[in-house]
Order: sequence, then structure tokens, then C-alpha cells
Amino acid sequence: MQHSKRILVTGGAGFLGSFLCERLLAQGHEVICVDNFFTGSRWNVAHLLSNAGFEVIRHDVTFPFYVEVDEIYNLACPASPIHYQYDPVQTTKTSVHGAINMLGLAKRVKAKILQASTSEVYGNPNVHPQPETYWGSVNPIGPRSCYDEGKRCAETLFFDYWRQHSLRIKVARIFNTYGPRMRPDDGRVVSNFIVQALQNQPITVYGSGEQTRSFCYVDDLITGLIRLMGTSDDVTGPINLGNPAEFTMLELARLVLELTGSRSEIKFLALPVDDPQHRRPDISLAKTALDWTPQTPLREGLGSTIAYFDRLLASGQSSGHLAAE
Ligand code: NAD
Ligand code: UDP
Ligand code: UDP
Repeated sequence: MQHSKRILVTGGAGFLGSFLCERLLAQGHEVICVDNFFTGSRWNVAHLLSNAGFEVIRHDVTFPFYVEVDEIYNLACPASPIHYQYDPVQTTKTSVHGAINMLGLAKRVKAKILQASTSEVYGNPNVHPQPETYWGSVNPIGPRSCYDEGKRCAETLFFDYWRQHSLRIKVARIFNTYGPRMRPDDGRVVSNFIVQALQNQPITVYGSGEQTRSFCYVDDLITGLIRLMGTSDDVTGPINLGNPAEFTMLELARLVLELTGSRSEIKFLALPVDDPQHRRPDISLAKTALDWTPQTPLREGLGSTIAYFDRLLASGQSSGHLAAE
């Protein structure tokens, strides 16, 4: 058993955060989960409350926060376009003020700190697949900018605290990740298609459906985050974490239809403004620096995700209640 640490996870009641809390507790660490429950839910972590090493605190990271910890995973931020565009000013504040507060905290207690950054820093990329050296193609004034530019500014802050204050930082650029415990109304493509298929409702494909994404299963992603945190201090990132297998949204729709046996039809809706055309991580750096490659093929990951939503919808609950099983 490795040395037990006290670890802060912001956004810990969200989709990725709840799996991260679970894995860290299983490794024998103490975990403090901080969340304002904007998109996250107490149900996502309800099954962890009986663990004496676990604590949940309702708090908004745009306000200062004082606690003594060894490591910080900064995940607080809505990740689905419909949620981060609901209150775009708050989204930027969460990324920027949240980063400043968590970096200030890390500085005071000399903690190691990891930022959950995103493939959105590459915007609508002109380089394909995207290596970490690519600076991106981001609209600074569009509807996605609150998220993209907020996350880019957070990366800037991380590297300035590293240069200026010698903080131990880790920046992960996470590509589209999916799995159980996403909200049925999350709005991202995997949960939308699965929920629609299970209810025999039309599958909403935006645009022509020829745009691509690369989908990583949640378990693989959590392994990557923890492995990055565990690397030596000279490994700061940014480092891409994602599954390089690339699919069009039409391919995804057809796969979901096949796996659910659904009678849903495909319905084409308008493409959202600034929707990136292609996205695929170059994970060479993660392979060498972390010895990490995703293990779960899309078909397999979709199988467990479909099974989760099937049980959730059958239970009549609207969110996360099954997580406590
Ligand atoms: P999520 O929406 O399920 O989780 C975000 C969590 O942050 C929620 O629990 C929410 O309530 C909380 N939160 C939001 N604003 C907050 C604030 N001001 N103070 C405290 N808590 C706040 O999304 P997720 O998919 O779990 O994403 C987690 C992190 O990973 C985010 O930072 C996201 O940008 C990043 N990320 C995720 C993906 C992905 O595909 N899932 C891809 C790239 C980056
Ligand atoms: N901060 C915090 N928790 C701490 C220490 C700092 O939330 O334990 C916040 C603090 O409110 C400040 C921010 O982090 O606004 C940045 O802190 P830093 O020490 O870098 O800057 P300064 O306090 O000099 O503005
Ligand atoms: N998308 C879609 N139908 C939906 C939801 C999303 O066709 O019901 C498309 C969306 O336009 C984008 C891709 O799926 O091209 C991924 O969207 P998501 O919101 O999941 O993630 P992001 O755009 O942030 O990568």
C-alpha cells in the first residue's frame, strides 16, 4: 500500500470527479470533494459517504477556500456545451477565478496540483491529429469561448505559477470522455444518443454528422489522470489524454442503434456555432511519459454505458441515483 495522502478533488460530485474520488479512496487516500452541484449531484458520491476518509463540501471555487491537502485535482467546471453556455460569465469565472484560488491554495500548502484542461484548447483544429505542441484555432468571442478561453487562461495561470512560484503542476488535456453516471440531460453526444435510442426517440445528429470525435471510456481516463499526478515533478504537461480511435457522429449513431436494438430514426438538426469539425488526440507523449494507452474500445464502453442508462431509465429516476448501488 502506498503512502496515504489527503487529496482535494474540485468538481468531485460530477461525472469524472465522482469516479476519481472513488478510485483515490480505493487506493487508501483521504478525499475532500468540493462541488457547488451546478451539474454534479450528491447522488454521484452518496455511495462513498460511508467511507471515513471521504468528505463532501458544498463550495463554489470562484471563492477562496482554505484546507490542508497534499494534492489537488481541479475538475470544477461544467463540461457540456449546453451547461457551460447557460451562464457563460460564471463559466469563465469558474475556470479563471477557480484556477487562481486553487493555485493560491496549492502555493500556500505546497501541494501538487492537476488541472483538468481540454481538447477545446485546440478549437477547430487545422492540425490533425492534435499534438500538445499545436497552439490551436479558437474563436475568442463565440458561444464556446467562455469554456475554451477560460480553460486556455487556466493553463496560462498554471504555467505562470510554475515559472513564478515553482509550483508542482500537471496539466491534462482531456478529449471527449463518456461512461456511466453522465446525466441523462447532460446534452453531450454519447448520453444524448443512448437516452434517445433507449426511448425509441429520434437520434439528434447535428449538421451532416460527418464531424468526428474520439471517445475515451471513463475508467481509462481516470487511470491517466492518476498516473499523471504520480509522475516526477519535471513532467508538467500539457499532456493529451484520450482515445485516438476516431468516429463520425453518424457512425456513433449507427453503433448506438445497433447496440440498443432501437427503432429510433436519425433526425438531422442544425450544427451548433463553431462546432469543431475533427478531433483526435496524438497520445505519443502520454504513451512515453505515463506508459498510458486507453484499453476500452468504443463498442465495449458503450455497452456498459447503455446498461447504466437502461437501469436508470427503468428506475424512473432522473439522475445519478444508481451510482449508489
Ligand atoms: P461535469 O459537469 O459532470 O462535472 C463538473 C463538476 O464541477 C460538477 O460536479 C459541477 O457541479 C462542478 N462545478 C461546476 N462549477 C463549479 C464551481 N464554480 N465550483 C465548484 N464546483 C463546480 O463534467 P465532467 O465531464 O465530469 O468534467 C470534469 C472536468 O473535466 C471539467 O473541468 C471539464 O472541463 C473537464 N473535461 C471533461 C471532458 C469530458 O469529456 N468529460 C473533456 C475535457 C475536459
Ligand atoms: N487562496 C485560497 N486558499 C488558500 C490560499 C489562497 O483560496 O489557501 C486564494 C486567495 O484568496 C487568493 C488566490 O488564492 O485570491 C491567489 O493566492 P496567491 O497567494 O497566489 O495570491 P495573493 O493572495 O497574493 O493574491
Ligand atoms: N452532437 C450531435 N447530437 C447531439 C449532441 C451532440 O450530433 O445530440 C454532436 C456535436 O455537434 C459535436 C459532437 O456531437 O459535433 C460532440 O458533441 P459534444 O457536445 O458531446 O462534445 P464537444 O462538441 O464538446 O466535443
